[in-house]
Amino acid sequence: MSWPPLREELRGIEPYGAPQLDVPVQLNVNENPYGPSPECVADIASAVAEAATTLNRYPDREFVELRAALAAYLSHDTVHGVTPEQVWAANGSNEVMLQLLQAFGGPGRVALSFAPTYSMYPEYARDSLTEWVAGRRESDFSLDLDHARDLVKETQPSVVLLPSPNNPTGTALPFDAIATLCEAAGDGIVVIDEAYGEFRRAGVRSAVELLPEHRNLVVTRTMSKAFAAAGLRLGYLAADPAICDAIRVVRLPYHLSAVTQATALAALRHAPELLGKVDELRVERDATVDWLRAQGLQVADSDANFALFGTFADRHAVWQGLLDRGVLIRETGPDGWLRVSIGTADEMMAFKEALTQVMEEL
Ligand code: PMP
Repeated sequence: MSWPPLREELRGIEPYGAPQLDVPVQLNVNENPYGPSPECVADIASAVAEAATTLNRYPDREFVELRAALAAYLSHDTVHGVTPEQVWAANGSNEVMLQLLQAFGGPGRVALSFAPTYSMYPEYARDSLTEWVAGRRESDFSLDLDHARDLVKETQPSVVLLPSPNNPTGTALPFDAIATLCEAAGDGIVVIDEAYGEFRRAGVRSAVELLPEHRNLVVTRTMSKAFAAAGLRLGYLAADPAICDAIRVVRLPYHLSAVTQATALAALRHAPELLGKVDELRVERDATVDWLRAQGLQVADSDANFALFGTFADRHAVWQGLLDRGVLIRETGPDGWLRVSIGTADEMMAFKEALTQVMEEL
């Protein structure tokens, strides 16, 4: 056996992650470009100082106060309200979804999604020894609902993973599709990953509204994107309390540190400020999509804080050309496509100038 004695199927695999490069314009990991205000920073600092006074003790394993605050925040999206028992949280929605696969996937079970989609999904399946099945998306990256329903019935997944909006395409799921797939999945759970949910265009509704009707529906969210707190590492879900209870079996004890809980609670108190730039980012996104189309490029319709555009015979050359001009975007998605996150107006100006120059050289 070669050293170290890594599991056979993990040998030679590169760890997931975009390059972290120190360049002036960083538009590669769908972060919110706006940092917290001095008032918000001060409030977080004093909440962490308070938490530090009892750092010799383990944190609240059930994070009761945080669950209540997240439930109150999610209740804005539904007339039915969300209770703390319906909420679960972990270190980023990545960890939430891994826990879902650990609890509901496993050997002999199937996890299903539709490609192209978020490239971590197959990794959660691999790491939890769950069989991975990927259906297809249409050429405009929408979901063919008949194909999706047929594949759900045929493969009987114990977990369906569906981002809305989808990463890397930005495509939101039609509201009706969620109910259809929850019904088709029977006892399998359907995870609607709303990591970018707050960026949706007017008229696109959150799956949170459907929770009372489908006990197998799980809606995941994160504080990393619209909430402008990627460094915090706090993701959460809303679901039937029985699902939250089941996850408690696989979570590591005290997985949410006292510092994380204090920071998240303080950030939630500043929700209006932290979310305050979402409208501006939506406007900038729509303007970026229009501009890219005016350059003769294809652009996927986007309900998120990024746009997928192309196609380029040599997308790596375009990515590199932008990087040489101090603009970092993401080489991801189907062949020939690139993804740009939406930054400040100045950052988008720099992106457009750099892309214009690169395209002139092609
Ligand atoms: N879901 C989707 C669709 C994402 O794009 C991402 C991050 N890029 C995540 C989940 C995970 O985000 P986090 O762990 O920061 O909550």
